[in-house]
Amino acid sequence: MKNTQNIAIIGAGLAGLTAAAYLRAGYEGEIVIFDKGRRPGGRLAARRHQGVLFNHGAQFATARNPRFLAWLQARVADGRAALWPETSINHDRYVGLPDMNALADAPISAVETGRHVSFAEQQGGQWYLYVNDAKLVAPGHVGPTGSRIGPFDRLILALPAPQAAAFLAGIGHYFAEPASIVTMAPCWTVMLGFPPGTAGPDILLPAHSPLSWVAREACRPGNRDASVGYTVQASPAWSRAHLEDDAQAVQDMLAREFIALSGVAADPDFTATHRWRYAQSEISLGVPCLWDEERNLGVCGDWCMGNRLESAFCSGVGMAEAILAHTSMSVRG
Ligand SMILES: Cc1cc2nc3c(=O)[nH]c(=O)nc-3n(C[C@H](O)[C@H](O)[C@H](O)COP(=O)(O)OP(=O)(O)OC[C@H]3O[C@@H](n4cnc5c(N)ncnc54)[C@H](O)[C@@H]3O)c2cc1C
Repeated sequence: MKNTQNIAIIGAGLAGLTAAAYLRAGYEGEIVIFDKGRRPGGRLAARRHQGVLFNHGAQFATARNPRFLAWLQARVADGRAALWPETSINHDRYVGLPDMNALADAPISAVETGRHVSFAEQQGGQWYLYVNDAKLVAPGHVGPTGSRIGPFDRLILALPAPQAAAFLAGIGHYFAEPASIVTMAPCWTVMLGFPPGTAGPDILLPAHSPLSWVAREACRPGNRDASVGYTVQASPAWSRAHLEDDAQAVQDMLAREFIALSGVAADPDFTATHRWRYAQSEISLGVPCLWDEERNLGVCGDWCMGNRLESAFCSGVGMAEAILAHTSMSVRG
């Protein structure tokens, strides 16, 4: 028996996309994914600045879970991912090709991008969403504004914990409480571009420094850029202490720190900064997901299981399994 109920998923990071992919195996109903970002992937982020590629979100994936390992290896086999041998010290580290966003595995057409969902309400047992143009609302906005879209039989939130907690509190659901327990560390990230041929280290893992990770983009598998790009991440403690600082001041401080640590002699051609307010969770719930069978509401995300891509993937699979078990279906793959 196939299930014909419709599902709305808010959040097209790895957790939401994985839940959708595994649900599709057992569903004939429509699955609609909304994301406020310009493209799917969430923290699986990459962008080009002046022609130079930067992976400014997750740096690599590691796998202890056999299913996630098989998922990564399938992507290596068909050229969408590769091992990153230079950084694989204790564990194999995998990267997406041509960039980390490739692991998001979803064409833009599969997701309603640029759509900020600010509220949901249930009427006659069905869910209705309030959807806004992401450019027109404040990032953390919760409330019944925008277009009312529905009905959906089931609703999945695949958001970072603080955003899920605020949304759940807004709609008065008790899952707000467990979600609000999880705190997430921020990460200020600076992208620095240098002229072709600029010499410098491939990877730095500084201790006792504002910086915690430095990667030369050109040492990533598949990178063929002539110009030299460095992605520089501040430590969680430094990022938290400077969370509300002016972005330009943060950029200047971190760029100076990078030059001092790396010994790179040239001045950057350009610099860009990204603040991840919710980069990685500091504690997790210890369960794959939350599922309210009565209200047909699910919550998933990396923070349910840990703080890595693997956790997001496993949480998405767990979400699909919870729903399919509820409807007596089983997950393949
Ligand atoms: C700087 C940085 C470095 C990292 N390094 C690593 C690493 O090296 N290895 C590793 O394994 N992990 C790393 N991580 C963690 C990893 O990126 C995450 O664990 C994983 O990507 C989380 O996936 P997710 O689907 O749970 O959440 P997300 O990717 O955050 O997806 C949530 C999505 O929800 C959307 N959204 C939020 N609110 C709304 C709304 N109201 N309406 C519509 N859409 C909404 C967002 O736009 C986002 O796309 C890193 C993270 C960061 C930020």
